[in-house]
Amino acid sequence: MSAWEPVVGLEIHVHLKTRTKMFCRCPVGFGAGENTQTCPVCLGLPGALPVINRRAVEWTIKLGLALGCEIRGHAVFARKHYPYPDLPKGYQISQYDLPSCVDGKVILPSADGDREIGIVRAHLEEDAAKTVHVGGRTGRIGGADYSLIDFNRGGTPLVEIVTAPDIRSADEAKRFLQLLRQTIVELGISDAEMEKGALRADANVSVRPAGSNELRTRTELKNMNSFTFIARGIEAEVERQVGVWESGGEVRQETYDFDAASGKLTPRRAKEEADDYRYFPEPDLVPVEPPAELVERLRGELPEPPGARIERLEGTLGLERSSVLVTGGLDRLWEETVAAGAEPVQAANVIANALMGAGVDPGSVSATELARLVDARDRIPRAAFDEAVSKLGEPGFSADPYLTQEAVSDESELEPVIARVLEANPGEVEAYRGGKDGLLGFFVGQVMKETQGKANPRVVSELVKAKLSA
Ligand SMILES: [Zn+2]
Repeated sequence: MSAWEPVVGLEIHVHLKTRTKMFCRCPVGFGAGENTQTCPVCLGLPGALPVINRRAVEWTIKLGLALGCEIRGHAVFARKHYPYPDLPKGYQISQYDLPSCVDGKVILPSADGDREIGIVRAHLEEDAAKTVHVGGRTGRIGGADYSLIDFNRGGTPLVEIVTAPDIRSADEAKRFLQLLRQTIVELGISDAEMEKGALRADANVSVRPAGSNELRTRTELKNMNSFTFIARGIEAEVERQVGVWESGGEVRQETYDFDAASGKLTPRRAKEEADDYRYFPEPDLVPVEPPAELVERLRGELPEPPGARIERLEGTLGLERSSVLVTGGLDRLWEETVAAGAEPVQAANVIANALMGAGVDPGSVSATELARLVDARDRIPRAAFDEAVSKLGEPGFSADPYLTQEAVSDESELEPVIARVLEANPGEVEAYRGGKDGLLGFFVGQVMKETQGKANPRVVSELVKAKLSA
């Protein structure tokens, strides 16, 4: 497949966590009873007039600045018409040809240097209400007995971000979204939780012969609600399109739903043209014209972008570790732990693996105590280390009682255990001697199990190696 190059652009919707809705004062929030957070404005009753949520505008500008966008001095809300039961006005209010933020770029650190992903626009709009289809097997409209509408979500603020078709692989799409998500979270404008639908992404996918500049017909993938599903969906669609072109066919412009469970793509409907929506400027709202001082104040509030932090850590930790720490919101704890004396790579591994694996909230961890544990990791029994890590988030945690325990490093104590393990696994011993080096971890794991986690894994590893090469 090396002769083909994927061309991917993303459209991302982000729910802003403002206190009130986009054009009325109804509260924004999940978990309230159905249709309890509504008023004449968000129900589209005659005579009701919208008022722009100031905070939503400021947050959109802030996000635009974080994405390197130009902030327009004149943005306009338009009516986007389409009839649907979840849209009581018969139109959605959305920025259209004059959005607040345009022409940005995001630097995505990659294994082969920095990649630049263009941001075409970021604009503000209101969300539609939520439709629930009851009956039938799939929860979709086809085959349902009836449908219910919850207007609580109707009129809540959404930002739509559209990237240029600059993304060249499924993995790159995933890493871009992780970086974007972390950027949004750190701005404090959305929880951006995909599983709750606060961040949704659609992908426009096409392929072309590697090295060419042409743009072939693209398809749109919808309904993808996790980073992994998005990567898998793009991969499946790229493969499908390459198959179509290589068998002499032609890719048609279509929209697909990606079903993560089956890995299947299901065509949805032919894509509507923008003209179908009969856009026109919303006559009940004034244009958004942010004063330059406001834009500069918001620019001054931006934190150091995650991409820049990955670049800063990359020299010490490598791309993979740096990305995991930064996009997981763990790099601050890492920096404090290293400042408290921990070895940088060890500290990164403990934080990204042991600490996260134990489900500890990084915000509640004392970096000083963590640094002491990282330092003692090879000396104390594995079981003691794991227990200590799992308790790091408890108030007043001290590493002291764990640090006094010693892992067994005594060869005379370990030798017989190792001999027993090797004797019990002759097949693995043979495979290891035949070149399967990866089995070393298996042997060490068995010895750790036999000693109930009290052996020093580093010493065990050396002893096993010596024994098997003898
Ligand atoms: Zn309302």
